[in-house]
Amino acid sequence: MTPLQTTIAGSLPKPAWLATPKQLWAPWLLEGDALAEGKRDAVRLVLDDQEAAGIDIVTDGEQTRRHFVTTFIEALEGVDFMNKKTVRIRNRYDADVPMVVGPVARRHAVFAGDAKFLRAQTTKRLKFTLPGPMTMVDTLYDGHYKSREKLAREFATILNQEARELVAAGIDVIQFDEPAFNVYMDEVRDWGIATLEKAAAGLGCTTAVHICYGYGIKANNDWKKTLGSEWRQYESTFPLLAGSKIDQVSLECANSHVPLELIGLLKGKDVMVGAIDVASDVVETPEQVAATIRAAMKFVAPEKLYPCTNCGMVPLAREVASAKLRALAAGAALVRRELQQGRGPAGPHQRIGEI
Ligand code: ZN
Repeated sequence: MTPLQTTIAGSLPKPAWLATPKQLWAPWLLEGDALAEGKRDAVRLVLDDQEAAGIDIVTDGEQTRRHFVTTFIEALEGVDFMNKKTVRIRNRYDADVPMVVGPVARRHAVFAGDAKFLRAQTTKRLKFTLPGPMTMVDTLYDGHYKSREKLAREFATILNQEARELVAAGIDVIQFDEPAFNVYMDEVRDWGIATLEKAAAGLGCTTAVHICYGYGIKANNDWKKTLGSEWRQYESTFPLLAGSKIDQVSLECANSHVPLELIGLLKGKDVMVGAIDVASDVVETPEQVAATIRAAMKFVAPEKLYPCTNCGMVPLAREVASAKLRALAAGAALVRRELQQGRGPAGPHQRIGEI
């Protein structure tokens, strides 16, 4: 396989006729059949954008969901989404979220239809994102189990059922989004890795986890200012993930304060290197993307390095996100050419496998 396969964290902006731009949880602007058709059209558009940019492993841009966590939760039994409760998410910001009122269960497939449609539109490798168990627990009010671990285990079972259907629909990579892994490091150790592995067990496809510092929204940007000059949240989690059955791990690198040597803690894993800053409207140049990839290549071999975005791009303007996709692919292409010409960042005499 060509090294430096590009991919994205997951979400992309929605067209302005489908949902209000630059807004999380933006309400749909269509209804009924028009909404269903609009979502499919939007999926076609984001696929087109990714393919035209030259992204290798593409997603549906989460065009069929209002939010990466709550849209999945709202499809479950045992969750009351009519009477929402305000909770503090990741100790950072308040949001109105659904409430667990009884045993949780999956009434029906949630995204399998979307995945089948997506598969029919492209021959590219497909990634589908699902929320991770801990992040799901952290994005609702639990009035039933009263135990984050117990609820996470129930969600892991449900996620595994859902993921199996996505794989059957032709999805190549299932990615669980666990931004909560950067906040509750003790819980990650105590039960977070185990519930993640339970969600990903026996899927028969590539499995991934995305751990980030969040969308480029004010609450997250303010939080990041409190984290000091070096962000070492990954330091306790990566060795645990290195010992887990998860195949790929993503991290933020572009414009972040994450010391890149922490990548070295992910020995044996594929690493999705965030080379696009999603908290800025400034579009990276291909050379800037290439510089991030080269820096990461000191700690992971190119065939295990997947240039990626730092996080989802749903809050960005569409044209900015499109330009960032093109920069990501162009930056990766620059470094690929260097590798082919034997001019890797480690010097002309070092073979790729030794980096
Ligand atoms: Zn993210």
